[in-house]
Amino acid sequence: MIIIDGKKVSAQVKEQVRLECEELRKKGVTPGLAVILVGDDPASRVYVNNKKKACELVGFKSEEFTLPATTSQEELLALVEELNEREDINGILCQLPLPKGLDENAVIEAISPIKDVDAFHKQNVGRIMIGDYDFLPCTPAGIMEMLHAYDIDVDGKNCVVIGRSNIVGKPMGMLLLHENGTVTICHSHTKNLSEITSKADILVAAVGKTKFVTADMVADGAVVIDVGMNRDENGKLCGDVDFEAVKDKCSYITPVPGGVGPMTISTLMKNTLKAAKLQNGLD
Ligand code: NAP
Repeated sequence: MIIIDGKKVSAQVKEQVRLECEELRKKGVTPGLAVILVGDDPASRVYVNNKKKACELVGFKSEEFTLPATTSQEELLALVEELNEREDINGILCQLPLPKGLDENAVIEAISPIKDVDAFHKQNVGRIMIGDYDFLPCTPAGIMEMLHAYDIDVDGKNCVVIGRSNIVGKPMGMLLLHENGTVTICHSHTKNLSEITSKADILVAAVGKTKFVTADMVADGAVVIDVGMNRDENGKLCGDVDFEAVKDKCSYITPVPGGVGPMTISTLMKNTLKAAKLQNGLD
């Protein structure tokens, strides 16, 4: 069994981005990422800090816009509009979830598709469906990068994704399909879940429930990718997979922390670099 080292792969991706950023800066372009944080959700604060740190590391400019939870929809949309217009900002992301009362979809749709480095805008989502895209969604693309780094071939494999969110599950299924996996997407209405998961060569868990995937749900020799970022009863970060029980059945498994999480951020850096290149006619 091999524990996939997301931190290591992520560091390699960021180093590549840093080198490309250096080249870009010689041409007078410094990629800029705007991060909008509304309210004071502690998990969102941690994610935003990590994104800012990654920007510093690779040589991007990052600007944070912290707004109170009482911010109105109009104020938030006005900020997005302002950032859409700014030439020094190439990527815009609004950390989700937004506080109650704010319309996430409207905010996503307000971001200019060419600055939508999360790849959540419906124009980008549609382009991913047909395989003609500039940006891929950060978490699923980070997972694909990790599979490539470990030479895990998807072609012809039975791939099962648990979870069908627009952010993780659905695009994950699509990216596995693009690489010729035979994909099943499961959700809360799926019948006989463990029967399906136990036939997976590659199993991706994106549920949001601690220890949801147990040993009996996993085939011997499976590749298990744990997207979950949950807190256990002691407040410790843990995934959706019962790691200790499952790990010895797997050929590869991602840990939490240190698996998918770092890959999400390195893909965000890749997307921001790409956005800067596209917007400056350098791609
Ligand atoms: P989400 O929007 O809450 O989606 C969860 C999915 O799990 C839904 O599709 C839901 O089905 C399904 N589900 C819930 N209970 C189930 C059950 N009993 N059996 C089968 N399916 C079930 O969550 P998300 O945004 O995709 O995130 C999932 C997890 O990944 C969370 O822990 C989140 O924190 C984490 N995450 C991590 C990263 C990272 O960088 N590592 C990035 C994003 C998210 P229905 O659609 O039927 O309700």
